[in-house]
Amino acid sequence: MSLQEIHSRIAKAEQAADRAEGSVKLIAVSKKQLDETVKAVLEQGHRCFGENRVQEAAGKWPGFREQFEGIDLHIIGPLQTNKVRQAMELADAIHSVDRPKLAQTLARLAQEIGHCPDLFVQVNTGEEEQKAGILPGEADAFIAECRALDLPVKGLMCIPPVDEEPALHFALLAKIAARNGLEGLSMGMSGDFEKAIALGATHVRVGSAIFGARAY
Ligand SMILES: *Cc1c(COP(=O)(O)O)cnc(C)c1O
Repeated sequence: MSLQEIHSRIAKAEQAADRAEGSVKLIAVSKKQLDETVKAVLEQGHRCFGENRVQEAAGKWPGFREQFEGIDLHIIGPLQTNKVRQAMELADAIHSVDRPKLAQTLARLAQEIGHCPDLFVQVNTGEEEQKAGILPGEADAFIAECRALDLPVKGLMCIPPVDEEPALHFALLAKIAARNGLEGLSMGMSGDFEKAIALGATHVRVGSAIFGARAY
Protein backbone atom coordinates (compact mmCIF):
# COMPACT_ATOMS: atom_id res chain seq x y z
CA MET A 1 0.00 0.00 0.00
CA SER A 2 1.34 3.46 -0.74
CA LEU A 3 2.22 6.04 1.85
CA GLN A 4 -0.47 8.23 0.28
CA GLU A 5 -3.13 5.59 0.88
CA ILE A 6 -2.14 5.22 4.53
CA HIS A 7 -2.32 9.00 4.97
CA SER A 8 -5.79 9.07 3.46
CA ARG A 9 -6.97 6.19 5.68
CA ILE A 10 -5.62 8.07 8.71
CA ALA A 11 -7.42 11.24 7.62
CA LYS A 12 -10.69 9.31 7.22
CA ALA A 13 -10.31 7.73 10.65
CA GLU A 14 -9.59 11.15 12.20
CA GLN A 15 -12.69 12.56 10.60
CA ALA A 16 -14.88 9.60 11.63
CA ALA A 17 -13.73 10.07 15.23
CA ASP A 18 -14.36 13.83 15.14
CA ARG A 19 -10.70 14.49 15.62
CA ALA A 20 -8.71 17.34 14.14
CA GLU A 21 -7.04 16.67 10.82
CA GLY A 22 -3.36 15.94 11.38
CA SER A 23 -3.81 15.05 15.05
CA VAL A 24 -2.37 11.57 14.47
CA LYS A 25 1.30 11.15 13.72
CA LEU A 26 2.29 8.37 11.34
CA ILE A 27 5.45 6.55 12.44
CA ALA A 28 6.65 4.54 9.45
CA VAL A 29 8.23 1.44 10.99
CA SER A 30 11.30 0.77 8.87
CA LYS A 31 12.81 -2.13 10.81
CA LYS A 32 14.17 -4.92 8.65
CA GLN A 33 13.54 -3.02 5.44
CA LEU A 34 16.14 -2.51 2.75
CA ASP A 35 17.77 0.91 2.63
CA GLU A 36 16.42 1.63 -0.83
CA THR A 37 12.87 0.90 0.31
CA VAL A 38 13.24 3.32 3.21
CA LYS A 39 14.91 5.90 1.01
CA ALA A 40 11.98 5.81 -1.41
CA VAL A 41 9.66 6.82 1.44
CA LEU A 42 12.07 9.59 2.53
CA GLU A 43 12.08 10.84 -1.05
CA GLN A 44 8.29 11.11 -0.92
CA GLY A 45 8.79 13.60 1.90
CA HIS A 46 7.99 11.44 4.90
CA ARG A 47 10.23 12.12 7.91
CA CYS A 48 8.90 10.20 10.91
CA PHE A 49 10.23 6.65 11.31
CA GLY A 50 10.32 3.88 13.91
CA GLU A 51 12.95 1.24 14.60
CA ASN A 52 12.71 -1.51 17.18
CA ARG A 53 16.44 -2.21 17.58
CA VAL A 54 19.03 0.36 18.56
CA GLN A 55 21.76 -1.51 16.71
CA GLU A 56 19.85 -1.48 13.45
CA ALA A 57 18.84 2.16 13.88
CA ALA A 58 22.49 3.10 14.48
CA GLY A 59 23.50 1.44 11.24
CA LYS A 60 20.84 3.11 9.15
CA TRP A 61 19.84 6.54 10.42
CA PRO A 62 23.01 8.61 10.85
CA GLY A 63 23.57 8.19 7.10
CA PHE A 64 19.99 9.13 6.24
CA ARG A 65 20.22 12.16 8.53
CA GLU A 66 23.12 13.40 6.41
CA GLN A 67 21.01 13.12 3.29
CA PHE A 68 17.61 14.30 4.55
CA GLU A 69 16.64 17.18 6.84
CA GLY A 70 14.15 16.96 9.67
CA ILE A 71 14.16 13.24 10.40
CA ASP A 72 12.11 12.30 13.48
CA LEU A 73 13.28 8.90 14.72
CA HIS A 74 11.38 6.82 17.27
CA ILE A 75 12.76 3.76 19.08
CA ILE A 76 9.78 1.47 19.63
CA GLY A 77 11.36 -1.82 20.72
CA PRO A 78 12.67 -3.25 24.02
CA LEU A 79 15.64 -1.27 25.30
CA GLN A 80 18.54 -2.89 27.15
CA THR A 81 20.14 -0.74 29.81
CA ASN A 82 23.52 -0.84 28.07
CA LYS A 83 21.99 0.59 24.88
CA VAL A 84 20.29 3.56 26.52
CA ARG A 85 23.02 6.12 25.84
CA GLN A 86 23.16 5.18 22.17
CA ALA A 87 19.36 5.28 21.93
CA MET A 88 19.27 8.74 23.51
CA GLU A 89 21.86 10.03 21.07
CA LEU A 90 20.06 8.58 18.06
CA ALA A 91 16.39 9.02 18.73
CA ASP A 92 13.87 11.83 19.13
CA ALA A 93 11.51 9.58 21.08
CA ILE A 94 11.60 6.27 22.95
CA HIS A 95 8.32 4.32 23.26
CA SER A 96 9.52 1.43 25.40
CA VAL A 97 10.12 2.76 28.92
CA ASP A 98 9.02 -0.28 30.85
CA ARG A 99 10.90 -0.69 34.15
CA PRO A 100 12.37 1.30 37.05
CA LYS A 101 15.98 0.41 36.21
CA LEU A 102 15.54 1.82 32.70
CA ALA A 103 13.87 4.98 34.03
CA GLN A 104 16.76 5.51 36.44
CA THR A 105 19.34 5.04 33.69
CA LEU A 106 17.50 7.45 31.40
CA ALA A 107 17.37 10.05 34.18
CA ARG A 108 21.06 9.73 35.00
CA LEU A 109 22.11 9.99 31.35
CA ALA A 110 19.71 12.87 30.68
CA GLN A 111 21.56 14.82 33.40
CA GLU A 112 24.89 13.92 31.89
CA ILE A 113 24.03 14.50 28.21
CA GLY A 114 21.83 17.52 28.87
CA HIS A 115 18.80 16.35 26.92
CA CYS A 116 16.31 13.52 26.78
CA PRO A 117 14.12 12.22 23.95
CA ASP A 118 10.34 12.30 24.41
CA LEU A 119 9.35 9.22 26.38
CA PHE A 120 6.40 6.83 26.29
CA VAL A 121 5.76 4.28 29.01
CA GLN A 122 5.00 0.87 27.55
CA VAL A 123 2.10 -0.88 29.25
CA ASN A 124 1.65 -4.64 28.96
CA THR A 125 -2.13 -4.34 28.66
CA GLY A 126 -2.58 -8.06 27.96
CA GLU A 127 -0.43 -9.00 30.96
CA GLU A 128 1.50 -11.37 28.71
CA GLU A 129 4.47 -13.04 30.31
CA GLN A 130 6.73 -12.84 27.26
CA LYS A 131 5.91 -9.22 26.50
CA ALA A 132 7.67 -6.11 27.72
CA GLY A 133 5.81 -3.35 29.50
CA ILE A 134 4.71 -2.34 32.96
CA LEU A 135 1.58 -4.14 34.21
CA PRO A 136 -1.63 -2.07 34.15
CA GLY A 137 -1.91 -2.25 37.94
CA GLU A 138 1.59 -0.84 38.35
CA ALA A 139 1.35 1.85 35.68
CA ASP A 140 0.21 4.78 37.85
CA ALA A 141 3.03 4.28 40.34
CA PHE A 142 5.60 3.84 37.60
CA ILE A 143 4.48 7.00 35.77
CA ALA A 144 4.76 8.89 39.07
CA GLU A 145 8.24 7.47 39.55
CA CYS A 146 9.30 8.64 36.05
CA ARG A 147 7.92 12.10 36.77
CA ALA A 148 9.76 12.26 40.07
CA LEU A 149 12.93 11.58 38.07
CA ASP A 150 12.04 14.60 35.85
CA LEU A 151 11.72 12.40 32.78
CA PRO A 152 9.74 13.90 29.87
CA VAL A 153 6.93 11.32 29.77
CA LYS A 154 4.60 12.29 26.91
CA GLY A 155 2.34 9.29 26.81
CA LEU A 156 1.78 5.55 26.85
CA MET A 157 2.38 2.76 24.37
CA CYS A 158 0.95 -0.75 24.00
CA ILE A 159 1.11 -3.77 21.71
CA PRO A 160 -2.11 -5.79 22.13
CA PRO A 161 -1.97 -9.60 22.24
CA VAL A 162 -2.20 -11.01 18.71
CA ASP A 163 -5.29 -13.10 19.40
CA GLU A 164 -7.44 -10.57 21.22
CA GLU A 165 -9.65 -7.69 20.17
CA PRO A 166 -7.21 -4.76 20.08
CA ALA A 167 -9.92 -2.18 20.85
CA LEU A 168 -10.16 -3.45 24.44
CA HIS A 169 -6.45 -2.84 24.90
CA PHE A 170 -6.52 0.57 23.22
CA ALA A 171 -9.40 1.61 25.49
CA LEU A 172 -7.53 0.43 28.58
CA LEU A 173 -4.40 2.32 27.55
CA ALA A 174 -6.46 5.48 26.92
CA LYS A 175 -8.04 5.16 30.36
CA ILE A 176 -4.68 4.83 32.12
CA ALA A 177 -3.34 7.82 30.17
CA ALA A 178 -6.37 9.98 30.99
CA ARG A 179 -6.22 9.37 34.72
CA ASN A 180 -2.53 10.24 34.69
CA GLY A 181 -2.97 13.40 32.62
CA LEU A 182 -0.99 12.07 29.67
CA GLU A 183 -1.91 13.10 26.13
CA GLY A 184 0.23 10.81 24.01
CA LEU A 185 -1.11 7.41 22.96
CA SER A 186 1.20 5.29 20.83
CA MET A 187 -1.07 2.50 19.64
CA GLY A 188 -2.19 0.91 16.38
CA MET A 189 -0.18 -0.97 13.76
CA SER A 190 -0.82 -2.05 10.15
CA GLY A 191 -3.81 -4.21 11.00
CA ASP A 192 -5.61 -2.01 13.48
CA PHE A 193 -4.54 1.63 13.26
CA GLU A 194 -8.02 2.89 12.37
CA LYS A 195 -9.45 1.31 15.53
CA ALA A 196 -6.63 2.90 17.52
CA ILE A 197 -7.41 6.31 16.05
CA ALA A 198 -11.08 5.89 16.98
CA LEU A 199 -9.93 5.31 20.57
CA GLY A 200 -7.58 8.28 20.72
CA ALA A 201 -4.20 7.24 19.27
CA THR A 202 -1.88 10.20 18.76
CA HIS A 203 0.90 8.06 17.23
CA VAL A 204 0.32 5.02 15.01
CA ARG A 205 3.22 2.68 14.24
CA VAL A 206 2.73 1.26 10.76
CA GLY A 207 5.30 -0.97 9.09
CA SER A 208 4.27 -3.66 6.64
CA ALA A 209 1.25 -1.76 5.28
CA ILE A 210 3.65 0.92 4.01
CA PHE A 211 6.77 -1.03 3.14
CA GLY A 212 5.47 -4.50 2.43
CA ALA A 213 6.76 -7.65 4.10
CA ARG A 214 10.03 -7.23 6.00
CA ALA A 215 13.13 -8.11 4.02
CA TYR A 216 15.15 -10.06 6.58
C1 LIG B 1 7.16 -3.98 13.91
C2 LIG B 1 6.42 -3.12 14.86
C3 LIG B 1 5.32 -2.35 14.43
C4 LIG B 1 4.79 -2.37 13.01
O1 LIG B 1 4.13 -3.54 12.74
P1 LIG B 1 3.32 -3.75 11.36
O2 LIG B 1 2.35 -4.81 11.69
O3 LIG B 1 4.33 -4.12 10.34
O4 LIG B 1 2.66 -2.45 11.05
C5 LIG B 1 4.70 -1.54 15.37
N1 LIG B 1 5.12 -1.49 16.65
C6 LIG B 1 6.16 -2.20 17.09
C7 LIG B 1 6.58 -2.08 18.51
C8 LIG B 1 6.84 -3.04 16.22
O5 LIG B 1 7.89 -3.76 16.67
